[in-house]
Amino acid sequence: MKKLITIVGARPQFVKAAVVSRAIREHKSGIQEIIVHTGQHYDPNMSDIFFHELDIPKPHFHLGIGGGSHGKNTGRMIEKIEEILLPEKPDFLLVYGDTDSTLAGAIAASKIQVPIAHVEAGLRSYNRKMPEEINRVLTDHLSSILLTPTAHASRNLHKEGIDDSKIRIVGDTMYDAVLYYGEHAKAPTTSVDMDVFEKDYALCTIHRAENTDDTARLREILQGLASLPISIILPMHPRTRNRIETADIQLGGNIHVIEPVGYLEMIWLQKRASLILTDSGGVQKEAYFHKTPCITLRDETEWVELVDIGANMLAGADAEKIVSSFGKLSGFSFPDDPIYGNGDAGEQIVDALQAYMNSGDTHAPGN
Ligand code: UDP
Repeated sequence: MKKLITIVGARPQFVKAAVVSRAIREHKSGIQEIIVHTGQHYDPNMSDIFFHELDIPKPHFHLGIGGGSHGKNTGRMIEKIEEILLPEKPDFLLVYGDTDSTLAGAIAASKIQVPIAHVEAGLRSYNRKMPEEINRVLTDHLSSILLTPTAHASRNLHKEGIDDSKIRIVGDTMYDAVLYYGEHAKAPTTSVDMDVFEKDYALCTIHRAENTDDTARLREILQGLASLPISIILPMHPRTRNRIETADIQLGGNIHVIEPVGYLEMIWLQKRASLILTDSGGVQKEAYFHKTPCITLRDETEWVELVDIGANMLAGADAEKIVSSFGKLSGFSFPDDPIYGNGDAGEQIVDALQAYMNSGDTHAPGN
């Protein structure tokens, strides 16, 4: 039996890890998975509900590290993850995406020669002001197995000189998740009058630091939302709520704020929405999986193929662009060609991990 340690800490990582963890369990992989939750997201509706609804095994270790600055959190996580890796002696470490938990896991493992597998490798915004960009670039360069969602992501890695033998295109785990959990989608329990969901509505999420921590941008985005001729459901991230309250920004009457919802409720909301507005990476893709047009509230995106096909428009934090994109996207018809794989990314990841272990090629991280 080979031993794998999985590091998770934030909402999108729970969704991705649910898919891979299930594939590890169901495909007689000969891999024992140990889950470490760093505690980066700790509110019950941002963490526990995902473990429960998506049937993710209870974490073996919970580090309880959240709420601090990037440096403080990352440093504390490195220390605690090393304390687990040393006695557990895993055959490799599995990390997801681009959070501080991802980078902390990669740094801790690389220093003690534990090979790293990175799911969602190769994404780039080419904006180094984003903490996520720093996390993903560094993690990719420390990893021995780079599991990419698209050929475009693989090309990004080639451009940075990463050896092709380490890269494998596996598709997107979030597509697997939508296919697998789609039939369990359920209406959210909210105080919002259910009539709103019967009519046309847009779904919006805002949580990225570049928007929440810049009051002018946040104000402009909310102004754009208020100008749209449609009801907007906004499951509000705790950080966004905090900034709106501190800056005393008034919301338009068409905006219905609800608490963050669980994944099954989110799929339900996404499927029925006429439009999605978001600064989330995952939600941009999910909009596409549900064939819902998307306005991205950022100046650039890692998911460039969605902009190329016209399903996603970048509006940044510009109220006018938000309104004009709304007009341009209505009636958009989605092409049928799959962009993010065939819904078997979980199995492909397990295959890649097994192939790596069986090759006996456990070269030191980053070599
Ligand atoms: N999500 C959710 N409930 C919410 C908001 C988001 O279940 O209230 C899910 C969403 O469907 C996606 C994931 O959380 O699967 C995306 O997480 P987030 O937007 O926090 O991170 P990002 O994808 O930007 O890294």
